[in-house]
Amino acid sequence: MGRFDDRTAIVSGAGGGIGRACALLLAAEGARVAVTDIARDRAEETTALVRAAGGVAATYPADVTSGAEINEVVASAERDLGPVTLAVGAAGIIRNRPFLELPEEGWDATMAVNLKGTFLLLQAAGRRAREHGGGSMVAIASVAGRGARPTSADYAASKAGVISLVRSAAQALAADGVRVNSVCPGVVDTDMTRAIHRERAAITGTTPEKSFAALAGQIPLGRTVSPGEVAETVAFLLSPTASYITAQAVNVCGGLEMD
Ligand code: NAD
Repeated sequence: MGRFDDRTAIVSGAGGGIGRACALLLAAEGARVAVTDIARDRAEETTALVRAAGGVAATYPADVTSGAEINEVVASAERDLGPVTLAVGAAGIIRNRPFLELPEEGWDATMAVNLKGTFLLLQAAGRRAREHGGGSMVAIASVAGRGARPTSADYAASKAGVISLVRSAAQALAADGVRVNSVCPGVVDTDMTRAIHRERAAITGTTPEKSFAALAGQIPLGRTVSPGEVAETVAFLLSPTASYITAQAVNVCGGLEMD
């Protein structure tokens, strides 16, 4: 018996590091997974990995900034995979820009994907979960949303927004049996992080590996966190074991403080 037998989960950003790890873990524990991402090829790779491991998944390419596209993903997932009662919002973007050089369109893009995209997913999936008598949802925020990022003010503000949005959604849906929480990773070894360190290394004249290692050295536990470790916390929050936990933001950061 898996923790998510006979449940259907939507995972956004499921072509990325954290989203893929969540899709794989939920499927390994019995969930049928609707894999959605703006990058069709990466989403298809995730679906193929789930199926290769004996799980059930289907791909639904979509842009989380479009309410119409997200509603279509949810409707298609219900038709193909069954009642949607679980959701993970892992789609996200980051662009490292010093505060005074952050362009207006960069601010808008970050807010659209990270904050509006999370809102649209939680609303669409929340409506279905309420209809089915309950469910659980997790949005991936960040420890950056609890503090400050002078080179990513847009990112930190969007993630602070996600933490707040999740609390509001949780309070709105609690009476319907729908729990909503956020997970705040520290530094995860994914494409997103590797891209930042390639950029930083070019500016500071070091190598991406040295730049990454220097950051890892600042983390109290002395290392970065794997996507799989983040997924374990997501799965815990989605599972019945967390039945009394809602409206919370859970750090998975090795003790790293961002402020
Ligand atoms: P990633 O780049 O590997 O994955 C992000 C995924 O989101 C990609 O597959 C991308 O195609 C998808 N995406 C981007 N824009 C989209 C859009 N408009 N519509 C649909 N999908 C879209 O990054 P990751 O590290 O796996 O990040 C996942 C989440 O975790 C993000 O929200 C990120 O902010 C958050 N996070 C990451 C870290 C880290 O250190 N990597 C730390 C804290 C929080």
